[in-house]
Order: sequence, then C-alpha cells, then structure tokens
Amino acid sequence: GCKMKKLEDYVRSIPDFPEPGIIFRDVTTVLQDKDGLKLAIDSIQDLLKDVDFDVIVGPESRGFIFGVPIAYNMNKAFIPVRKKGKLPCETIEMDYDLEYGKATIEIHKDAIKPGQKVVIIDDLIATGGTIEAITKLIKSLGGEVVKIVFLMELKGLKGRDKLAGFDVEAVIQYE
Ligand code: 5GP
Repeated sequence: GCKMKKLEDYVRSIPDFPEPGIIFRDVTTVLQDKDGLKLAIDSIQDLLKDVDFDVIVGPESRGFIFGVPIAYNMNKAFIPVRKKGKLPCETIEMDYDLEYGKATIEIHKDAIKPGQKVVIIDDLIATGGTIEAITKLIKSLGGEVVKIVFLMELKGLKGRDKLAGFDVEAVIQYE
C-alpha cells in the first residue's frame, strides 16, 4: 500500500560523523525496526538466490549481523573475519588502509578449505579496503570468492574499483 516503507527510509544519515564532512549511514535504525530488519536481510539474501556457494564470510562487526541470518536461512556456514588479536586459534592476517589510518584483520587458517566457493557480506562498502583485504585472505586459503554483497554502497568513494574482477552488488546506493 501507500504506507510501505522502503529500505532507504530506515537508514539514518548522520552528518559530520565520525569526521567533519562525512555523512555516516547508520544501520541501527534499520535493525531496531522489525520490518526494517526483515527487509534488509531479505533484500541482501535475494541477491544470492541464484548463486552457487559453500560459505559466507563476514567482517566484524556489522558483517556478522547480516551474514549469520543469511547463512542460517540458506543452510550455509558462517566464517568471521576479526580485528587482530581476537581469534583464538591459528590465523593468517592482512594489513589494509582505512579512510583514516591502518588496520589488520585475521581469519582462522582452517576456516576455509581449498576450492570452497565463498560469498562475502558486509553492511557497507566505502573505499573497499576492508573487503579487498578479505578477498586476499580468502585467496591465500585457497577459497574462491564468487560474490560480494552489501546493504549499502557509497559510490563516490569508488570502492568497486578495488574489487575489479569480482561480482559485486549492493541493495542501496548513495552517490
Ligand atoms: P571501507 O573499507 O570500504 O572503506 O570501509 C567499510 C567499512 O567501514 C565497513 O565495514 C563499514 O561497516 C564501515 N563504514 C564506513 N563508512 C560507513 C558508514 O557511513 N556507515 C556504516 N554503517 N558503516 C561505515
């Protein structure tokens, strides 16, 4: 009906966070509404309906929020990528550049078996640095990234350029 809210309507935009000039796309207002949450999960999951894959990889922490319910719904496994120092067993790590500064992420060495088809899920692509680093971790474990999906894409930051050669889709695009 005419009162149907679109996914975009649930996203709150916060000017000048975390830095002046940045418009932060806040996903908590999507999550805190039961219809928004369902719409978000269903919309991302819909991008995977024709994809043949084995496991979902998601980065801490908003990648967990969307990755796990979709893995559960589609009867797949979920593999966390975490900030350095959080995972308890043997890991491999990757450094990458953030919009401000640097970071290191890790994945368990035994999390992905050679030849497995991997989908990556995160809430948002900005510069693409985080996901590019994750694709390198997956590759070095012998996994094959078959699709990368986001709830939101900040097109102006050209994150897709870092992910050339990968199948990338986002539900919502901001200029
Ligand atoms: P990238 O590596 O693509 O530059 O940064 C993406 C990461 O930063 C994502 O994990 C995302 O959660 C976070 N991020 C950057 N900007 C925003 C934003 O405006 N809103 C949200 N929700 N997350 C952001």
